[in-house]
Amino acid sequence: MEKEIEKVETLIIGSGPAGYSAAIYAARADMKPVVIQGLQPGGQLTTTTDVDNYPGYKDGITGPEMMEDFKAQAERFGTDTRWGMVTKVDLSERPFKVEVDEKDTILAETVIIATGASAKWLGIEDEKRLNGYGVSACATCDGFFYKGKEVVVVGAGDTAAEEATYLAKMCTKVTILVRRDEMRASKAMQHRVFNTPNLEVLFNHETKSINGEPGAVGVESVTAINNKTNEETIIPASGFFVAIGHKPNSDLFKGQLEMDDAGYLIVEPGTSKTEIPGVFAAGDIADHVYRQAVTSAGTGCMAALDAERFLADKK
Ligand code: NDP
Repeated sequence: MEKEIEKVETLIIGSGPAGYSAAIYAARADMKPVVIQGLQPGGQLTTTTDVDNYPGYKDGITGPEMMEDFKAQAERFGTDTRWGMVTKVDLSERPFKVEVDEKDTILAETVIIATGASAKWLGIEDEKRLNGYGVSACATCDGFFYKGKEVVVVGAGDTAAEEATYLAKMCTKVTILVRRDEMRASKAMQHRVFNTPNLEVLFNHETKSINGEPGAVGVESVTAINNKTNEETIIPASGFFVAIGHKPNSDLFKGQLEMDDAGYLIVEPGTSKTEIPGVFAAGDIADHVYRQAVTSAGTGCMAALDAERFLADKK
């Protein structure tokens, strides 16, 4: 006998602050949400240490604990959270067809996309080899381990500037490798960079290699190359931070939903509505500017309210 296809009212893809906030609102509105958690349950915050800027946690909280709280709150109202990866979606007609782990199909009346974004990497071999052993893409998560040591940051945008100035507060020296002869970061951020005494910017420099062995507490040094003169410089460093932007996790929706050149989903301004009625987007997948837990949670709430209204109109 053929297996009956499961039907759900509200399917939420992703389990960061946006996904769980949408789930809290949807569950309380009796929309019986199902959350498919994705590859990294809890999202990017599970790789963070302390979160001090989420309102309500007056003494701060760790990222993983905060995401456990989000999940528990969503489940208190009946959210069905599941392990699994969404492997295919068909948004061409309603109910929308969503495939999980390449085997199970779910038909959903509404879909809330909260798949977030992931840090970009340079793509060099050493980066993979030493990931977690001195190589990181999150200064606020891992900077603490390099207190009193020297580090290198790669990138030239606001993220790199922010991470480098953050690291400069705890590290003895921070070197930023900028591949062009100028930074893309805002003037205000550049001002902070250039006014931080223990922070040096090397323009026209790229990473040739990261030197060290996996298993050690940090890396040993970084070999940078001047892309104008080909001159190599060995920079002593324990930490190597990649801060070259993020990639939205939107590959699943290519050709089905409108996105910008970088792959961020486009929503109707001031709402969470995508171009397909019944499909909503919340959190970093549709926001390359703010990217904060609190703004993601806010848009998750908006998505649940938009979905609730959509379902009410259909009834
Ligand atoms: P951006 O895309 O703005 O910048 C990425 C930077 O990384 C660019 O300068 C780019 O260099 C560099 N880069 C990319 N690939 C490589 C590579 N392979 N090797 C070396 N360098 C590389 O990303 P951000 O994450 O910095 O910022 C994203 C958005 O978030 C922006 O709109 C930013 O303003 C915003 N933001 C705002 C903050 C704030 O206001 N507090 C904080 C953080 C982000 P190149 O310039 O040569 O292309």
